Formats: sequence, structure tokens, C-alpha cells
Amino acid sequence: MTARKMVRVRFAPSPTGSLHIGNARTALFNYLYAQKAGGKFVLRLEDTDEARSRRDFEIEIMESLKWLGIRWDEGPDVGGDWGPYRQTQRVELYRELASRLVSEDKAYPCFCTEEELAVRRKEQMKKGLPPGYDGRCRHLSEQQRLRYLAEGRPYTIRFKVPAGEEVAFDDVIHGPISFSSSAISDFILIRSNGMASYNWAVVVDDSKMGVTHVIRGDDHISNTPKQILLYRALGLVPPLYAHHPLILGLDGKRLSKRHGATAVSQFKREGYLPETLVFYLVGLGGIVASDGPLKGMKEIVEDFDLSRVSKGAAVFDHKKLLWINGRFIRELPTEILVHHLRPFLEMWRVSERLESAKIEEIVACGRDNAQVLTDFKPVFDIFLDSEYTKREIFGDEEKGKTRNILEIFSESCKQVKTLDEGGYVQVAKSAMKRSGFRGRPFFMTLRRALTGVDHGPELTKIIPILGKEEVLARLRRVLEKL
Ligand code: GLU
Repeated sequence: MTARKMVRVRFAPSPTGSLHIGNARTALFNYLYAQKAGGKFVLRLEDTDEARSRRDFEIEIMESLKWLGIRWDEGPDVGGDWGPYRQTQRVELYRELASRLVSEDKAYPCFCTEEELAVRRKEQMKKGLPPGYDGRCRHLSEQQRLRYLAEGRPYTIRFKVPAGEEVAFDDVIHGPISFSSSAISDFILIRSNGMASYNWAVVVDDSKMGVTHVIRGDDHISNTPKQILLYRALGLVPPLYAHHPLILGLDGKRLSKRHGATAVSQFKREGYLPETLVFYLVGLGGIVASDGPLKGMKEIVEDFDLSRVSKGAAVFDHKKLLWINGRFIRELPTEILVHHLRPFLEMWRVSERLESAKIEEIVACGRDNAQVLTDFKPVFDIFLDSEYTKREIFGDEEKGKTRNILEIFSESCKQVKTLDEGGYVQVAKSAMKRSGFRGRPFFMTLRRALTGVDHGPELTKIIPILGKEEVLARLRRVLEKL
């Protein structure tokens, strides 16, 4: 029996923007695969586009991954035995291996300028031919090549695509896919600025980092034959490929800002839970039923099977996400909910004004009506902001009824020691009887007098948290204003 190779997968974002949920889904699939297989998950930064790559995006991407609960075994921040983990630090390696291919006559320097290429591309288009490099520099004589080099002309290194080769691979998600190498023109390995092209850097890195499975979006399927040809040229066996469908908006177009939030950090700011995104993104791939029982990362790992990821496009529905978020808010343990609320509590200056036990009580009070974490703001306001009693919250025509209800309710409070849920129910019953008001008119009056607004959590939950003293104080202030 041959020993099976340890599974090594990687997530390779370009730090040119925030972490898009489409990429988060790619990261998640890789992470889940590694977890399930007991393998390693590598984070590699593809920062070769120096003009667009930014440090703050790197930080944001890593923060977003961590927030989602995705951890990497090796990466630019944690190191590892197969580094460096950022492409700008691997430039020498790309050049060295490209030179090797040149010396083996599998690649060649190309001196065509951007302008020349643009003119030829136009001609090709005019003639209805597919655009692609015409192979001109492949046929330069050794003499010409040496002369151009001696003249110091800038050049790229192009791969000599072998003609008439069949490039087939068995995609874990899509099944067998095959291309003919004749459809591929000689492509660039090293740009004239010395940087590696995407396809070259990926192959060098994946092979040098021992990557066994490449799991990525299916927008990369057309790159795969090029990459396989490069593996062959290097005398290496390519990894296994799994291309998952991209996420589309409800209109069938690729998910973009037009559809609403797309960055993981933005969902976080809008009050979504990481549990929701993980569950939903995996659900989009068909691994968990999004209206079935909620699952956390551990259970999702257990259920994970890459070959079950659906081949069809994943359609992103913000309404469904919102609904799932509401379910998680209701079902997660309160401490976890409070943990996720921390940044908001800081921002709303709640943490400095309330002790944790009180915060937990208020969170428990508001969770039934919340869909996003920002829905907790008005709930905290109920307890922290009693300024509303200074406003006219009742119209002239309501004043008589209101005074009657509030006076009797305050009076009835004296019958009970504390306004816990039982105490409140008893007081409310007796006040309804004595005032002659019941149902909506009674409760609406009481609610507005105690909170300043007409909606919010159940009074049976609010009143015990306010406590008897605060309830009486608020009612007194409202009565004074009537
Ligand atoms: N940097 C590439 C991307 O973000 C990685 C593609 C790959 O996984 O090969 O799309």
C-alpha cells in the first residue's frame, strides 16, 4: 500500500479589496476540506499586482476570515515550513524556474511591445479570429534573440504551448473536463517588469507548497489547462481540482455591490453573525439545507463532502440571509450573542454604562424580535434613555384615558413587592379591572409611557428589567407632563 499524501489546500486571495463573500465561500470550502481530511490549510497572499495590493486589505481579509472562524495552519502572519507565503517574496523562485524552462526550450523571451500586441489583437478581431499571441518571438533565430537582449530591449517570458495536446482533468465538482492545447496561445510566465503572471506564480507556489487539492471558483476553469500544461513542463503531477460555482444575485448576474452588501466586513457592520454567513454560504453549495436545523462549524465539518457541492449557480438571497440571522439570534447561547454584540455595545457606549448581568438580561429580552444585531440598539435605548419622558408622547385626546390607566397602574404596584414577571401580571390584571380598560388600549398606553415608543419586546420582559422603582419613576414623570 502506498502512503496517502497529507491533504494540503490553500486560499490565495489578492489583497486588492475587502473579502468578498464569494471568496469567503472559497476559503470556507478549503478550510472545511482540510478539517475533514485532517490536512493543512494554507493562506497565501497573491500580492503581485503591486499597484492595487494594499496592506490594509490584507489585514481586513485576515480579520474577516478569523471572524468567520476560519483558521489557517500556515500563512504570512503565522509562518510555516513552506513559505514565504506572499508572492512578492517569491519572485526569485518564479524567475529561476522560468529560466529553467527557457533553457529546456519550453519557454522563450518575447520582445513584442504592448503597442505591437494591441495592433495585432485588433487585426485578429477584424478577421474574426480569437485573440491570442501569434507566436512571433517563438521563431526568432538565436542570433536575433541575443542581439535584442544585448540591446537591452524589455522582454517577457512566454510559455511554449505544445501543439495538439489533450488537457483533461477530473473536476471533483464538475466531473471530467477537457481542453485542446491548440486553443491556447503562448502565454506569459514573467512580465517585462520581472513579476510572474498569475498562472505561473500559482503553479510554482502550489507545487512548491505541496498543495494537493485546488478548490476555487469556476471562473478559474479556463486557467486550469494552462496550469496543467505548466505542471507537465516542470515534470510534475498537478493537484486535484474542484471548481465551485460562483455566487449570483437574484437577477442571475455575478454578485456585486449593486445587489447590496458583498464584503464580509460589511455584513459584520450591518449586524450579521459569522455563524449565519458560514451556514448560509455552505448551504448555497447544497451541503446543508438552509431551512433545516441550524449548524455550527463543527457540525458542518462533519457533514462536509466536496463532491456534494452543487454544480448549479449559487443564488444569493439577502432576505433569506436575514431570516437565518434572526434564527441564529434566537437560538445561540446568550453569552455568544453578547460576545458578537461587543463591538456594537462599545459603539453605543452600553458597556460603560451597564454591568454584564444587566446586558445579558436585555439581550435575552430583545432577541425574539431582532433580525440583525443593530436591532438591539432600540432595545438598549429603552433601558438607557429615559429622556423621552420630557417629550409630549401622548396627544391631547388621549390624556384623560392615559392619566386614568397610569395612576391606577402605579397605585396597583404598591400591592406587590417586586415587579418580576408574576408581579407585573398581577398588577396589570388588577389595574385593568379597576380602570375599565383592557387589551390593546391598556397595554399600548403603558408601553408608550414606559418606553416612549409603540413597539419593542414584550412588556412582560421589559418591566422586570426596569424594576419597580424605575417603572414608578417613569410613570410619575409622564403623569407630571400630562
Ligand atoms: N488570487 C486568485 C484569486 O483570488 C487565486 C486563484 C486560485 O485559487 O488559483 O482569484
